[in-house]
Amino acid sequence: MTAASTGTPSTALVLVINCGSSSMKYQLVEPVSAEVLAAGLVERIGEEQGRAVHSAGGQDREFTGPIADHGAALGIIADLFAESGRPLDPAGLLAVGHRVVHGGAVFGDPVLVDDHVLGQIRELAALAPLHNPAAATGIERAREAFPGVPQVAVFDTAFFRTLPAAAHTYAIDAQVAAEHQIRRYGFHGTSHQYVSGQVALALGRDITDLDQIVLHLGNGASASAVAGGIAVETSMGLTPLEGLVMGTRSGDVDPGVLFYLARVAGLDTDGLDTLLNRRSGLLGLAGVNDFRDVQTRMDAGNDAARLAFDVYCHRVRKYVGAYLAVLGGADVITFTAGVGENAPAVRAAVLAGLERLGIEIDAERNAVRSKEPRVISTDASTVTVMVVPTNEELAIARATAQLVQQG
Ligand code: AMP
Repeated sequence: MTAASTGTPSTALVLVINCGSSSMKYQLVEPVSAEVLAAGLVERIGEEQGRAVHSAGGQDREFTGPIADHGAALGIIADLFAESGRPLDPAGLLAVGHRVVHGGAVFGDPVLVDDHVLGQIRELAALAPLHNPAAATGIERAREAFPGVPQVAVFDTAFFRTLPAAAHTYAIDAQVAAEHQIRRYGFHGTSHQYVSGQVALALGRDITDLDQIVLHLGNGASASAVAGGIAVETSMGLTPLEGLVMGTRSGDVDPGVLFYLARVAGLDTDGLDTLLNRRSGLLGLAGVNDFRDVQTRMDAGNDAARLAFDVYCHRVRKYVGAYLAVLGGADVITFTAGVGENAPAVRAAVLAGLERLGIEIDAERNAVRSKEPRVISTDASTVTVMVVPTNEELAIARATAQLVQQG
């Protein structure tokens, strides 16, 4: 039991905040033990009717009503902490760790936030218009709410700063690319880094000895190739639109589709953005973006849902093949995030028939439901296939604590 759960204030706690444009997810985490003391989600910030759900000590508390902005959301979170009998005391916080989607070419490792850093995060808004302004606002409000508590920004792009030039460079006019910072940045880095580390721990291997493919299949989805703990390829690019099929995002399409639609359908930039980011992917193909709904429809014989499932799995499989070549063969392939952790049918479809490449899934192991890291390949498989739950909040809490304590 930690000091906090006995009611004694602990200064080792990290509040992790993940701001979206109209949402704020948070967790109060003890970074060493990984204990989550409270977690919650505030949604529909700025809309007529907002909602917050707070879980602590096995109990859920809810708020509904207007939530004007991210500052108001923090106030409601503080109220919910107080109602749950465990007020959020700034004196008990080691730091607040913020997930920031885009670090651009500026940020790699986590940084302590000051006015200059905040300005730079805002300047990167052009590269991540939905995400970075929200993160900056969240940081600003958290600085006001918790004066004197260090605020740390942890970037989703950081793990992919090591991509070799051949992997991160787009073959477009080099001057245009340089002028506008156009390159592949990659996202979900916190998850890919955490999961590849957990794989090494679970297998009792040194991470520097492992070539890994990590498949983060959640509402957003991305694949990475990690050689000896260093990221060498990933499927997302300048923005989180490239690569795999996602809930509402198309992933890879021929860029020619955009010019064609602009010409024949008169779509402007916003129309194209909305089409590919919000109306495509599983939603565009099957009419629903939640993978469980796709599977329910598919099981009921719906052809569009079947096609969505097939396109989704085919795309992941294609990336697995590509990354096997990039790495010159892999030791481990790992599934993570909502779909990767919970959909055995996807894992089976993605890796079916790859015995010639040394990849063989064990049907019984694949069917097991568990929150623990586990191997789902056969003993004969030369490539180990695993399911490893991701935990981005814990990874952010640990990175935050490390930065603050070493400073
Ligand atoms: P995440 O972004 O990691 O929270 O993942 C969200 C996605 O995981 C959604 O598309 C969910 O439908 C999917 N998901 C969660 N649980 C399951 C499940 N039991 N079977 C299939 N998909 C699931």
